[in-house]
Amino acid sequence: MQLEIDLAGRRVVVLGAERASRRVVARYRAAGADVDRRETAQACTDAVLVGAALVVAVGDAVGEAPNADPDCAMDALRDRCRRSGALFVREAAAQGSGTVTLVGGGPGALGLLALDAAAALREADVVLYDRLAPTDALAELAPAADLVDVGKLPGHHRVPQAGINDLLVRYALDGNAVVRLKGGDPFVFGRGSEELAACLAARVPCRVVPGVSSAISVPAAAGIPVTHRGVSHLFTVVSGHAPLSDEEHEHLAGLGGTIVVLMGVSTLPQLVAGLGRAGMRPDMPVAVVERGYSASQRTTAGTLATIVTAAGAARCQSPAVLVIGEVVRVGLDLQGGAAHLARLTESLAS
Ligand code: SAH
Repeated sequence: MQLEIDLAGRRVVVLGAERASRRVVARYRAAGADVDRRETAQACTDAVLVGAALVVAVGDAVGEAPNADPDCAMDALRDRCRRSGALFVREAAAQGSGTVTLVGGGPGALGLLALDAAAALREADVVLYDRLAPTDALAELAPAADLVDVGKLPGHHRVPQAGINDLLVRYALDGNAVVRLKGGDPFVFGRGSEELAACLAARVPCRVVPGVSSAISVPAAAGIPVTHRGVSHLFTVVSGHAPLSDEEHEHLAGLGGTIVVLMGVSTLPQLVAGLGRAGMRPDMPVAVVERGYSASQRTTAGTLATIVTAAGAARCQSPAVLVIGEVVRVGLDLQGGAAHLARLTESLAS
């Protein structure tokens, strides 16, 4: 059950020790509530309940009272809340030690964020995010968290990877629930495994919430399936960060399946030349899908022979996913785009 209550300006009484309830307090403050924290159920007198819209008991919230039975204390409090007209809920206490959760944020569409990712953000004290993470709704997704942009320092430089690893560990050792939010999936060219290794080396508990990778979802956003029965029964995901070797071009061309390239806009000319040398047909369809799932998403299509000119003319830019293979034609056909591809190919060939 999910209830939506407007708590702006309403009094919310939070019962619980400071450390255990800090996340809950931050969340209700972020919702605009006037939060009054009390250490124990005993400290929550009838006078405190007057005018409260909501009472939140964090953990067992019985405090130091001798022989206190949490269930009895909670039952009694629930009764008093009912009499005073306040809603009563219980929430889990924050864990004593810090944790790191590496979260894959997907390709940018809010709806493609996993439920586990949203839950980790909701509970986070600190979120370290970078450029490709879905950041638009971050303040609402992580209402209690400090948001740290590690994609940029004030001087517009990226925080180096070693610095990010140190930050993750330091925040967690301070007792925070830390979320490291990345675009797509954390283990696909995301350096997530290095961050996991740094946490484990520092004995910080770390878990991973996978995300929807742009390698599959961005082609899909453009209507291109990475496999299609009878057309391509495999796809290979390659980083175009640095040019590939001729041996790699030969292996890729020799596989005969779909090739998906991330970070490949600037090395597109070398890739196309290398695949050509490796014997790939010049009329093999190629698509460049820029800024998938954004309002400015754009697909530029061509063939191995024409795509460098087409991408140059269209001024294609990162972030983009390149798709090389007959599936591009399948995708464009499905959308009635075959005519477009043929036109583009003809006009560039002439
Ligand atoms: N871990 C990420 C990839 C990180 S590498 C994932 O699984 O998706 C960064 C590259 O991903 C970009 O250079 C681009 O090639 C691709 N990318 C990520 N999001 C994208 C988007 N919304 N549109 C187009 N390309 C995207």
